[in-house]
Amino acid sequence: MNIKRNVSLSPLSTFKIGGRAEMFCLVRTPENLIRAAEWAKANKIPYRVFAGGSNTVFPDGTLNGLLIRIRGGKISVSRNTICADAGVLLKDAVRISLAHGLQGLETLSGIPGTIGGAAYGNAGAYGHSISEVIRRVEVWDGRTRRWISRKECAFGYRESILKHTPWLALRVELGLKKGDRKELFAVSRKTIRVRNKKYKPGIKCPGSFFKNVLVADTPKAALKKIDPRKIIAGKIPTGYLLEEVGAKGMRSGGIAIPAFHGNLFENTGGATARDVKQLAATLKKRVYKKFGITIEEEVRYF
Ligand SMILES: Cc1cc2nc3c(=O)[nH]c(=O)nc-3n(C[C@H](O)[C@H](O)[C@H](O)COP(=O)(O)OP(=O)(O)OC[C@H]3O[C@@H](n4cnc5c(N)ncnc54)[C@H](O)[C@@H]3O)c2cc1C
Repeated sequence: MNIKRNVSLSPLSTFKIGGRAEMFCLVRTPENLIRAAEWAKANKIPYRVFAGGSNTVFPDGTLNGLLIRIRGGKISVSRNTICADAGVLLKDAVRISLAHGLQGLETLSGIPGTIGGAAYGNAGAYGHSISEVIRRVEVWDGRTRRWISRKECAFGYRESILKHTPWLALRVELGLKKGDRKELFAVSRKTIRVRNKKYKPGIKCPGSFFKNVLVADTPKAALKKIDPRKIIAGKIPTGYLLEEVGAKGMRSGGIAIPAFHGNLFENTGGATARDVKQLAATLKKRVYKKFGITIEEEVRYF
């Protein structure tokens, strides 16, 4: 295991924010992920795991303990099944599914990060999420490796059991359907075109900052304040709530919210986790005050 010390965090996430990791180690296989975590446990060193770094906010100071990054690994296709190590990039899984004429991942085209990260947060876009095609996930629960079924994964909107346990995702098995290659490629290309308008390539951000709000979880009194035309598929877009409280164009240090999208925190240069948390707290307060709704971060703070 190659453990590096005092490693700069900012290049490791798409947000390009952060101080330094006390210890850092890059692993490329599920076996080495377990080995690194076991080494930390045996030495009583706290550890955290991340992957693509596309949904993370690293701290400004020192992140104590061992930070493990899982990137890369194997991917295989057999009939309608794709099995990928957690560190495989989602975009590679999408590409392979399209090449094999397998339907189910095409609307997730353009989402950065890994398949393990996607399973953790049940990544999705345009009305679909990865849980629709996940058959099972292999996890390491701190002692053993085992496969958990889709039901046990307890997927919900940007939710899975992985968010509520210290388990590590090792491999993900997807069950896809046969589709028309040409049509799948067309959907994928169109999706990427639409996405590139919202996220210009290279933008320093972690995707949408807050989760959308489920109507089912919203108090009736709060719902009365929402324009019903804004509700999409049972969700209140948080971008709309944020725009209503004047988020567009707001700044906090190096973070700016662009004029075209209220739920996007962009690092315009030199932003800190402090800037991010300050802006997030201000916006949460404003949304609560105006609508009586508590909005929650989609990003993960380390
Ligand atoms: C430009 C841009 C656009 C985006 N668009 C979307 C979108 O449309 N839809 C969407 O859902 N998301 C979107 N995101 C957010 C992000 O891409 C997804 O959340 C992605 O699935 C995160 O994967 P990752 O590998 O980068 O995870 P990381 O950012 O590395 O980690 C995120 C969390 O997952 C945990 N984690 C990662 N791997 C494992 C593992 N193997 N085992 C256990 N825990 C693990 C980490 O501990 C962390 O808490 C976007 C991000 C960007 C930058």
